[in-house]
Amino acid sequence: MGKSRSNVLFLKSLEKRLARRHVPQALAEAEGLLVHFGDVDRLSFFTGDRALTKRARKKVEGALRARSKGVPFAHLLGETEFYGRHFQVTKDVLIPRPETELLVEEALKVLESVASPKVLDVGTGSGCIAVSLAMERPDCKVTALDSSAKALRATRHNIRSYHLGRRIRLLKSDLFGRLSGKERHFWDVIVSNPPYVPAEDFPTLSKEVLSEPRLALDGGPKGLSVIRRILSEAPLFLKPGGWLLMEIGKGQSNVLREEIEEREVFLGVRFVKDYAGIERVLAVRRQEKSL
Ligand code: GLN
Repeated sequence: MGKSRSNVLFLKSLEKRLARRHVPQALAEAEGLLVHFGDVDRLSFFTGDRALTKRARKKVEGALRARSKGVPFAHLLGETEFYGRHFQVTKDVLIPRPETELLVEEALKVLESVASPKVLDVGTGSGCIAVSLAMERPDCKVTALDSSAKALRATRHNIRSYHLGRRIRLLKSDLFGRLSGKERHFWDVIVSNPPYVPAEDFPTLSKEVLSEPRLALDGGPKGLSVIRRILSEAPLFLKPGGWLLMEIGKGQSNVLREEIEEREVFLGVRFVKDYAGIERVLAVRRQEKSL
């Protein structure tokens, strides 16, 4: 059998085994594991220029077994892609999700009307939002906060790998706790992907999701505790007319809409739907008048 054919058959067998375990993007993941652990580039693999060594096959097989047992793909590779860039992912940060790219897109839209904006990222985790915004808007300055020292190690790595050390300031802070008095009414845009999974849902979560940090996922009863804290504290830190953009979970928009409209701190509320039709990004603008 030619090398090309035997390579492709190996790939197909990996795909099948992943699909049997209900891995949704089985072919893409099989290819990803092959390239990463088989130490072979796609072209040489498919043209049959190179056959996998026995050792490489073993490594790929090992990764496949771990994946089949529920280890997240991003943890096996130690990285993932977000908004077209690579980010290191460790067990201490949430794995960036495609929905969160919508939050970045929305932030970039509202930033269009602001020159040299100051952006605050609350609960930055891997730093994927902060880095994406800083890369897309070279005139903006970002402060990124996270309460977990371990998470901040990954954030720091990601900031350095994009040479953003001077444009992104990192602070260990539980929500807004460590900001100085001077940083009140200071930010043009506050972004956040807070923990919003309802605490009561944890028994039903997949092993994959449970291998991510609970701190980054658990939003307390109904998943609303941290979201509510951010909604109540953000106005103090936003400039008049500044924006708060926050990712939220399925089924949370209606109650949040009501709570926001009752308080009249913000000028109305808007939600952006994700690809599944879920109202995923909450966007509110602070009143102009002082509070
Ligand atoms: N979207 C994630 C999930 O459903 C949750 C992310 C979060 O809590 N910020 O697993």
